[in-house]
Amino acid sequence: MIIDAHCHYFSKNAKLDFVQGSSIEDHIRNHELAGIDKFILFTIGGLFSDFIKSNDEIAEVANNYPTKIIPFGTINPWYEEESLEEINRCIKDLHFKGFKLHPWMTGFPINSDLMDTMMKEISKFNVPVIVHSGTPPWSEPLQIAELAYRFPKVKFIMAHMGITDLWKEAIDAARMCNNIWLETSGVPSHPIKLAVEEIGADRIVFGSDSPYGGQGGHIFQLNKIKFLDLKEEDESLILGKNLSKILDINS
Ligand SMILES: [Zn+2]
Repeated sequence: MIIDAHCHYFSKNAKLDFVQGSSIEDHIRNHELAGIDKFILFTIGGLFSDFIKSNDEIAEVANNYPTKIIPFGTINPWYEEESLEEINRCIKDLHFKGFKLHPWMTGFPINSDLMDTMMKEISKFNVPVIVHSGTPPWSEPLQIAELAYRFPKVKFIMAHMGITDLWKEAIDAARMCNNIWLETSGVPSHPIKLAVEEIGADRIVFGSDSPYGGQGGHIFQLNKIKFLDLKEEDESLILGKNLSKILDINS
């Protein structure tokens, strides 16, 4: 089973629907064409606007494709009271399977005290948190490691594993905290190979960051891993087995 850890839903409210392949029908079709069985879906617009409304939109599209979409919610720690309520609503009422945090877009330091209240609430539920990484000043891998160190029971997925400039730090972060998994979207392919050698394939998960990258973005991101010529078992861990375990999905 192939699972994509990182996809955005561009609602009309986000005013970003110029990105090709952003409708939910496009997501479904493109993932099927690439042979991807399931994908984690979260908002884009809600990362910098109305996160509650955006979570509702994710719930609506996920309900239409329950076997394909794994819905994740988002929050904004600057709105503490609303976010604490929203964490509970996302899990208990909307049946979301995790949360996406984007310190750079939402505008908060991931390793600040601001996050403690949020993480204490999230850690009441056994759900993973995917965090954007690779863009200073607030989304650096070692800052995420600091948070992961403070909340060792929470499983953190480090989106983009540092992207182009901070992938060495991302590997270091995962080495320091065994509750961090590195996600492969956007990063060049050689850091992925290095991560397999240094921390092991059981700590890496495939993500596409679609619809960024356009109609073929999923296939490009998938081939980045397939062309690494990894051992079959390592490849299957990265493409789906690790996420199945993290999300408690039977594969
Ligand atoms: Zn993204």
